[in-house]
Amino acid sequence: MQKLEDVVLAEIHPLACHVCTARFQAVYPAPGIPFFGPHLAAHQLIRGCTVCGSDFATSRLQALALLPAP
Ligand SMILES: [Zn+2]
Repeated sequence: MQKLEDVVLAEIHPLACHVCTARFQAVYPAPGIPFFGPHLAAHQLIRGCTVCGSDFATSRLQALALLPAP
């Protein structure tokens, strides 16, 4: 069986900044994965819009990673 101890499973959802409406593919941790917990701390959450610089309170953007929308 393949070892998954260091793997973080993620889901990608479309997301848009509430300030500048920039669109992203936001990477979120997959829910319900029991071995995810210890590894979440290793990831720096992005809190805010990387396009206009608005913080999380106004942009409502938070994710493990923000990818450009296709
Ligand atoms: Zn923005």
